[in-house]
Amino acid sequence: MITIVGAGPAGSYLGHLLARRGKNVTILEEHSQIGSPVQCTGIVTHSIERFFRLKREVIAKRLDKVIVVSKNNRMTANVDEIVMWRDKFDMFVGEMARDAGAKILLNHQFTGFDGKNMIIAKDKKNNKTKKIKTDIIIGADGPYSAVAKAAGMGSNSRNYIGMQAKVKLKMDTTAFETHFGSDFPDFFGWAVPESEEVARIGIGCFKNARHYFYKFLEKRAGSRNTLCWESGLIPLYHPKRLIQKDNVYLIGDAAAQVKATTGGGIIPSLKAAHTLCDCIANNKSYSKEFKRHSGMELLLHLKIRNMLNRFSDKDYDGLLSLMDQEKVRRTLKKYDRDTPIPLMASLLIKEPRFLLFSKIIFARKQNSPITQIRRSALI
Ligand SMILES: Cc1cc2nc3c(=O)[nH]c(=O)nc-3n(C[C@H](O)[C@H](O)[C@H](O)COP(=O)(O)OP(=O)(O)OC[C@H]3O[C@@H](n4cnc5c(N)ncnc54)[C@H](O)[C@@H]3O)c2cc1C
Repeated sequence: MITIVGAGPAGSYLGHLLARRGKNVTILEEHSQIGSPVQCTGIVTHSIERFFRLKREVIAKRLDKVIVVSKNNRMTANVDEIVMWRDKFDMFVGEMARDAGAKILLNHQFTGFDGKNMIIAKDKKNNKTKKIKTDIIIGADGPYSAVAKAAGMGSNSRNYIGMQAKVKLKMDTTAFETHFGSDFPDFFGWAVPESEEVARIGIGCFKNARHYFYKFLEKRAGSRNTLCWESGLIPLYHPKRLIQKDNVYLIGDAAAQVKATTGGGIIPSLKAAHTLCDCIANNKSYSKEFKRHSGMELLLHLKIRNMLNRFSDKDYDGLLSLMDQEKVRRTLKKYDRDTPIPLMASLLIKEPRFLLFSKIIFARKQNSPITQIRRSALI
């Protein structure tokens, strides 16, 4: 018997894969309904279609452009992105798990362990405490993971505060925007259309999130146009995060399996589900296999994030100037952020001056006067 805590995309997709392999799977979900409340922008690259074909009802929009904005510059690139109705997406993956034979217990909140093979869960509807016997426990319970805490796998990763609102806003419905610079410290801001009338506006920040968010909201949409809030935590990937201990495994946000450049965690969690399913079925080490299949990619995202977090407004302006070339745009269209290794390699071959940015960071770290020379060479 395998118990998965959390019917988000990570838990349900893993439940689907394990049940398809004939495993006896139970998924516990603390809410009365899968997919609610929504705390996500729901934008993914078309790479999601490597995992499954999305039902039409799940897709809010397909976008073919990204507009990248810095303090004094902007550029547009062609992309292939899908904006999903996140609640419908979670329900869709939950249905996949059920169809494969997994049992989903709604209103069931994991509260702790009673020994190695016993889970304690609260049946919230009937206000009862239950003990569930299990061989394997999987924490797919998001960034606050109660499973991780109860198993003594406390997090060493930091979290961004992701503030997002749905707003009444008419914007180009074929494009989404990303905003960078000192008004978006340590991360970025976004505006993503979900329909002709409504957009999702958000930012991520380590601190002072409200201040930066309201500034952006006011500027981009006007704060009186807010329809609802969809904020939450976005874990920053940590390569040394403990994801396996005895018969307890962590996946998705609970394991901080998120792209540090964008905060995207949906596709990494689907990929991790394949790795974990294979490890359980074939008795392999999940920590090792995860590193092998996803570790390099997530580490590359983290390195890029660390580099971007040292950029000044002028650096971002310069970066956008380099990106605003046909050969770069073609590469951005060919490879998406879910294949970062070929994307970065191809970008550096097409435009070696991108490398100068790592030198800027190095020079700035050393406090060297070369910084200014390098920067003026780029802009
Ligand atoms: C503002 C914001 C915008 C984002 N935008 C994007 C985006 O555009 N694209 C993208 O790819 N990612 C985005 N993300 C990240 C994405 O939402 C997560 O990476 C993704 O939801 C991770 O899935 P998960 O299944 O691991 O966790 P979750 O989706 O958090 O699911 C965890 C599930 O566990 C349940 N649960 C929690 N505790 C318990 C318990 N004790 N007992 C039982 N059940 C429990 C919860 O109810 C929930 O259903 C965004 C995040 C935020 C905050």
